[in-house]
Amino acid sequence: IIIECSVECSIELQGTLPPTYKLEQADCTALELLKLNGYLSFHGISAAARDWGLIKHMPPAAVLHPDSVHDIAELIRVVASSSSNLTVAAKGPGHSVNGQAQADKGIVIEMSTMRGIQVMPHGDEDCALPFVEANGGELWVDVLEETLKKGLAPNSWTDYLYLSVGGTLSNAGVSGQTFRHGPQISNILQLEVVTGKGEIVICSSSKQPELFHAVLGGLGQFGIITKARILLEPAPQNVRWTRAMYSDFEVFRKDQEMLISSSATTTSMLADQQEQLHMTFDFIEGFVVMNTEDPINGWKSVPFSPDQMTASMLPPDAGSVLYYLEITVGYNLEDVGPALEERVEKMLAPLNYIPSLMFTTDVSYFKFLNRVHDLELNLRAHELWDVPHPWLNLFVPASSITTFDSLVFKQLVPVEFGGPILVYPVNRNKWDSRAATVVPDEEVFYLVAFLRNALPSGPGLESMLDDNARILKICEELRGKQYLPRYTEEEQWKLHFGADRWNAFVQHKHMFDPQAILAPGQNIFPRRQ
Ligand code: FAD
Repeated sequence: IIIECSVECSIELQGTLPPTYKLEQADCTALELLKLNGYLSFHGISAAARDWGLIKHMPPAAVLHPDSVHDIAELIRVVASSSSNLTVAAKGPGHSVNGQAQADKGIVIEMSTMRGIQVMPHGDEDCALPFVEANGGELWVDVLEETLKKGLAPNSWTDYLYLSVGGTLSNAGVSGQTFRHGPQISNILQLEVVTGKGEIVICSSSKQPELFHAVLGGLGQFGIITKARILLEPAPQNVRWTRAMYSDFEVFRKDQEMLISSSATTTSMLADQQEQLHMTFDFIEGFVVMNTEDPINGWKSVPFSPDQMTASMLPPDAGSVLYYLEITVGYNLEDVGPALEERVEKMLAPLNYIPSLMFTTDVSYFKFLNRVHDLELNLRAHELWDVPHPWLNLFVPASSITTFDSLVFKQLVPVEFGGPILVYPVNRNKWDSRAATVVPDEEVFYLVAFLRNALPSGPGLESMLDDNARILKICEELRGKQYLPRYTEEEQWKLHFGADRWNAFVQHKHMFDPQAILAPGQNIFPRRQ
């Protein structure tokens, strides 16, 4: 099979078809050197120029389907030594919003062929803690299924589980467990990484720590994660899942911050602190809903079944914006009984939600963690899943969240917003400051996520992107940071990181990917010779 090139040149590669994008001669020559067990595709690769956002489409020249870590290392070594302009992007399921896993005229590595999960319930000779070793292309849902077979599970999650291990670890991995356990990147024992020089490196906080911490939250800039050792803990069989509504932001905020405060302790725990932790919810998230009957954005989205709530149950003085808390307590079937009921009651007692607007259900731990999948199936059935998603994720300092509420939730968010809005606090001391993710400089900060779907009947993608720009500006003025950041100018990246962290980021780039081959879709560093 022949690769066509822009100049006279041809390469024979097994199992591939002529490319849709014409490669430069030097790049053809470079690819000719590859010795792969997997294969490169040049046709039918349009999926590599698509992602969840459906906003950016940058077709690559080729897609690598690696058979092992050696194929990935081989590709990067050859590109580093023989091409002056090819770039390489690892791609999980492509749940980025702004082309972060794309490589314009470069090579996308389809990580879905990099599968494999090994559960080590008793650790190994190097590590006495239970862990799971998952390949970089594994989906978290499969990690959960495998670990649950041993009664174990990772302790930190994302809301949606059909994301890849390598993809979320390149960002942070944040959800309702973050206040207690930190993001996913705080729960990693070891990584296998292919650097931008094509070296395969095993790293941890004691072995090659600089690479380890740079890669975690490093936006794919320093290496491709081919394996991760993820800490495990005993998994509950079930969860008591509660949603409780508020009409006053201050009351809602104070309750959330009170709930997360008991797990802020990091030092070795005294017995009464352990008891306090026993009385802490396992999962804490918050949401903003509009005071309308809209099934996506209104209060109708809160109860677990529609007949649990009517408009007349809202307090007469409720404003245009409402809030709800989502909390869970894990338990095993043997715990079911009065003691569990008493414990949950005690945990709910200090909260100040609207008493008639508290909804509860019991589901399996798997069903709870995989809850967004039910929504996915529903949206897919109505052909509403594959629409543009101009999502915006922010970290807002706790000291500014009330101002943010009045400037954004109460003023900028349109009544028919077209997607969920998340707002919940996390403890900064659960984040490892050596990891690359940028968070606000405050002990408590909020994850605020605007997860809009650009439906054909809505205000249109451009107008939603304009809303995002306005919201981001307010966030930055309040010393917040963008999560899953997207900037186009170096100055903006510098501001995002701050001077010291930017200098360290640049230094790590020189050390681990000096030719800026990796993750070009993040748009941070131009390719160097
Ligand atoms: P991709 O989009 O494929 O890649 C993301 C970036 O990582 C790219 O730069 C890519 O080049 C790089 N990359 C991919 N694989 C690797 C690898 N193996 N090694 C190194 N770099 C790699 N995030 C949260 O934190 N919490 C949530 O609750 C959450 N919920 C979500 C729900 C939905 C429905 C969606 C669509 C996304 C959600 N996200 C959430 C965002 C998600 O974490 C990011 O999209 C993330 O990028 C993971 O997606 P992915 O695995 O598809 O990675």
